[in-house]
This record gives sequence, structure tokens and C-alpha cells, in this order.
Amino acid sequence: MKIIVLGAGIIGISTAWHLAQRGHEVTVVDRHGEAALETSFANAAQISVSYCEPWANRDAPWKALKWMFSKEAPLLFRPQSPLGAGWHQYSWGLEFLANCNDTAFERNVQQLVALGSYSHEALKQVVLDTGITYNRLEKGIAHYYVDQKSLDTAADAAALMAKYGVNRRVVSKAELLKIEPAFQQFADHIVGGTFTASDESGDARVFTQELSQRCQERGVQFLWNHDVLGLDQAGGSITSARVRSQATGQEQALSADHFVVAMGSYTAPLLRTVGVSLPIYPGKGYSATFKILKPELAPKVSLLDDSVKCAMSRLGDNLRIAGTIEVGGYDLSLDTPLARARCEMLARRVETVFPGVCDTRLAKDGGEPHFWTGLRPATPTNIPYIGKSKVGKLWVNAGHGTLGWTHGAGSGKAIAELISGHKPAMQFGFYGYR
Ligand SMILES: Cc1cc2nc3c(=O)[nH]c(=O)nc-3n(C[C@H](O)[C@H](O)[C@H](O)COP(=O)(O)OP(=O)(O)OC[C@H]3O[C@@H](n4cnc5c(N)ncnc54)[C@H](O)[C@@H]3O)c2cc1C
Repeated sequence: MKIIVLGAGIIGISTAWHLAQRGHEVTVVDRHGEAALETSFANAAQISVSYCEPWANRDAPWKALKWMFSKEAPLLFRPQSPLGAGWHQYSWGLEFLANCNDTAFERNVQQLVALGSYSHEALKQVVLDTGITYNRLEKGIAHYYVDQKSLDTAADAAALMAKYGVNRRVVSKAELLKIEPAFQQFADHIVGGTFTASDESGDARVFTQELSQRCQERGVQFLWNHDVLGLDQAGGSITSARVRSQATGQEQALSADHFVVAMGSYTAPLLRTVGVSLPIYPGKGYSATFKILKPELAPKVSLLDDSVKCAMSRLGDNLRIAGTIEVGGYDLSLDTPLARARCEMLARRVETVFPGVCDTRLAKDGGEPHFWTGLRPATPTNIPYIGKSKVGKLWVNAGHGTLGWTHGAGSGKAIAELISGHKPAMQFGFYGYR
């Protein structure tokens, strides 16, 4: 079948790969000149099947209220005008609140673990099939704590994950230091942690760009530097995707048997134009990538810092730190006081935990570090929409929020299976299926 994939982030490229593997004729459209130049560009690099708890939990509303006026808040709700498009922020927020209870939390965790496990296997298979290298480190993920009260709650979370087959262990400070000796300089502050050996890390951008290359070699067509303008429908089905070349300004209507929308945070506005309403809203996050000066003292295990809620991963000669979420529209600025405060917080944290290990000087003129911001395509449950819409021939693979890299390979495989007429064998609520 002829299939058009809209969007060339990790989700779109993985979708294209798995469709091509199944013999379909695939065309990918993206507004950039290569893959992974938006949210899949510089994320925290974690393949974290085991650390997948959704943001919506019983304490989230109170924490969000408390953090409303803090520039360094891990979760920041920045109210938009409720008129026009701003309304979608409020409807998203209401659905988020409806998920802030233990029943919804556990239900959402179960779905995220199921997709995560399926996706991890799919990722390993893609790596085997393609030989792609992307600074992958299979050394697990450790979550470290600096206060006893927070560490005590970690045991409950580990027990919940164990219920779904995830081996997250609570570890003492001594064991944590054995797992990651780079903590030595910060050891006095650590009270303990949790660890999952099966998780891993690697560069999502490199992986996605390499996979897009492999897609091309398999015959996938790419329309780079093309804006998706809209979808045409007739008789309850999509007939074509309207795109425009940035080079020539020329518009064309691309027809196909199926259309997959994988445009990250921009999926929801496009779908609304054909009467499909999904609660996918941008959740702005930041990262900083620092050159490592002392490789022997830099961490190799991927890390989660509980006190500032950020993640760190080693990517070859660099250390990437990423975190925080701002629910406040499609703003990608890095030069506002708020954005600067958040970036500086990331630099400060690396310097505090691993003093002198990286070049964290805040050079602003092209020097290190590289600050970056991206819009997580967030849903109120953290669960992505993978499946078919109510409009004929229109499929969705979007809304991967904080876990699009973790869930990328599996989401692409799953939708390719669905389009090919098979339902993947996992306990996951596919969109449009009962
Ligand atoms: C700070 C931060 C840290 C993160 N850390 C992790 C992590 O450690 N582990 C993890 O699993 N996940 C992480 N994530 C989440 C992950 O990066 C995202 O979920 C994932 O990148 C989303 O991929 P996507 O393909 O859906 O979207 P994108 O990568 O944004 O791709 C969408 C594509 O659609 C294209 N597009 C959009 N609109 C149009 C249009 N009108 N015309 C043409 N093209 C269009 C864009 O150009 C883009 O290429 C993190 C995210 C952030 C922001």
C-alpha cells in the first residue's frame, strides 16, 4: 500500500522504517532538511522503560500550585488567554487533573510499562537489523535521592513497578556508589537511590537520522523542507495531504491509501481541521550538553536527580542534562529570563553533583554549553495515541510526551502492524480499537 507519514521525528521515522519493512511504499514529509530537528533533537537520551511514571499523580496539583511562581519549578503551568487556541490548554489541564488520583495513575503506569517493554524489544531488533551506532550505553538508570523522606517514597514506586514486571531495586548509598563511582565527590549528600539494570541510554537524534538514512536506502521517499498545510477529505476519508515546498513555494496534493500523522506537538492542530480532537499539548523542556573535561570522573550510568527532577546521560565526550516541563503554549524561546533561569539551573546542578567534570561555563557566543529547548507532545495521561482516527485512512502516532525516545521504536512497529491488519500482542489501549 502507498502510505504517507507526516513528520520525521523519532516517531515518524520509526513508523516509516517498520512500514517499509512490511513492503509498503512510503513517503515522509517534514518541514526541515533532515530528520529529528525538533523534539527528538537533544532530549535526555534515556530509554527508560522502568522510570515511566506519568506527571499526573495525586500530589501533582498541589506541587504545581506551589511551584507556580518559581522560575526553576520542575512543572510549571503558564496560563494562556482562554480565548481562541488558548482554550486547549485549559481543557488539557482539566483532563490532567482528572488523572491525578491513584486509580488513574496505576492504570496509566500499566499501559506505559507495556508499551515500554514492547518498544525496548523493537529497538534492540532495529539495532540488530541496521547496526546503527548512537552512543548507546547499556548500563541501566539510577535515580538518586538527597533526602530520606523522598527516598522512603521510592520504595512504594519500586513496588508498584514490580507488580508490572519491572525490576527496579531500592539501593543503599554504598551500593549506588558501586554502581556509579562518579558519585564519589557528591557522596556526602546522597542518602540512597533506586536502580534498574535493564534500562539504557543513547542519542535519539543520531539514531533517528541514521534510521532515516536506512529508510532511504530501502526506498522510502522523503519530501524535506516541505510544510504540511492540511488534509483534504471526501466521503468521510482523507483523500490527500496538502504540502508546500519551501524552495519553490509550489503546493501539491499527495494522495495515498493511508496517512499517518506523526507531527509531535503540531499533530493536534492539524487533526482538529478534519474534526478529530485529541488532547496533545506542548510541554516545553530544556537540555544542556556539556563537554566532559575529566572522562574518568564522569558518570556512565544514566541518572535521574530527584531533587531538581532532571535526567543526565553520557553521550560520548559530552554529558547531557535535561528536565523541567512548562505547559504554556508553542513557545520555543531560549532568551527569556525564565528560559535562562531554567538553563542556568541545569548547569548549576551538573557543577554541584559532578564538580569540575564538565565545562559548564555559561558562554553565550557559540561556546559550550549547548542549550536547547523542545516541545514534548504531552497528553494528560502520558499515554500516546497510536491507532486509527474516526476519519477513514487517517492514522495517528503522536502524544509521546516525556517518553517518545523510549517508546519510539515500538510505536513505529505497532502502527505498522495495525495498518497491515494485525493487532500487536500487548496490553495497550490502541487509539480507535476496542
Ligand atoms: C527536555 C526533554 C527531555 C526528554 N527526555 C527524554 C528521554 O530521556 N527519554 C525519552 O524517551 N523521551 C524524552 N523526551 C521526549 C521525546 O524527546 C519526545 O517524546 C519525542 O522526541 C517526540 O517525537 P515525535 O517524533 O513525536 O516529535 P518530533 O521529534 O517533534 O517530530 C515531529 C516532526 O514533525 C515535523 N512537523 C511538525 N509540524 C509540521 C508541519 N506543519 N509541516 C511539516 N513538518 C512538520 C517537525 O519538523 C518534526 O520533525 C524528552 C523531551 C524533552 C523536551
